[in-house]
Amino acid sequence: MYNDLKGKRVLITGSTLGIGRAAVEAFARCGAKVGMNGRKAPADLESTLARLNDGEGEVAFLPADVSNSEECKRLVEAFVARFGGIDVLINNAGGLVGRKPIDEIDDGFFDAVTDLNARSALMMTKHAMPHLKASAQASGTTASVICLGSIAGYNGGGPGASLYAAAKAWLHNVQKNWVTYHTKDGIRFNIVSPGTFDTPFHADKNDEAKAQIARTIPMGRLGLAEECAPAFLFFASHACSGYITGQILDINGGQFMP
Ligand code: NAD
Repeated sequence: MYNDLKGKRVLITGSTLGIGRAAVEAFARCGAKVGMNGRKAPADLESTLARLNDGEGEVAFLPADVSNSEECKRLVEAFVARFGGIDVLINNAGGLVGRKPIDEIDDGFFDAVTDLNARSALMMTKHAMPHLKASAQASGTTASVICLGSIAGYNGGGPGASLYAAAKAWLHNVQKNWVTYHTKDGIRFNIVSPGTFDTPFHADKNDEAKAQIARTIPMGRLGLAEECAPAFLFFASHACSGYITGQILDINGGQFMP
């Protein structure tokens, strides 16, 4: 079913670590042309690219801070210059930035959290849109935008994570508008919404804190980064999900059922 991902041009923001990194690996194994992005190159970049470029896939590292609108524009341009267009955009970059209760939130923190989690996805989508539309027209199928939501987008988030949770809820909502007004352009919009995944995102937690969270999850454990990747492949593949748009797929081991 995933054969149609071979040669697809897939840009994944925030993909040097964690869930995004596992997605880069999965698309490369499907023979896709993949843009791996982070603010700076990971230490193992050379060996990673050598390994991933050894098969049918092609991976390029494109640095950019996607919380900055101008850098989003430049990232899209750099990807298009390298691969000639965009078929799939995955707005994966995101994070807490920090944990602050309401009395400690100032304008700088508000901007930092919303820039990273909301503005980045908006600006990446805006600049990618003409290329996604061109992709859909040329292929006669659909292009795909996949955003990363969160369990926090439903439940308001943990301590000090109100702005992060609100930004994820914003993403859950804004795609409804994009579906209504851009389906005519041949673009599908879907969200992958993780529960608690054991990635560097949770580097501030020790093993006991993670075990405590695991006890609240029916599956009894945190998710692994590679367990999100098949959902990205599914939403990216027209053959698999060509009539699916505007959906949120929760991947959380039963941790939360909206
Ligand atoms: P992570 O912190 O492990 O990795 C984040 C990646 O984003 C890294 O590659 C980092 O370099 C990159 N990044 C951070 N800021 C960036 C910026 N300004 N510009 C470009 N790249 C940037 O996070 P993760 O756990 O892999 O999370 C991936 C996505 O999934 C995020 O949107 C996150 O909010 C969401 N999510 C994660 C969890 C979880 O439990 N891990 C739960 C729900 C949602």
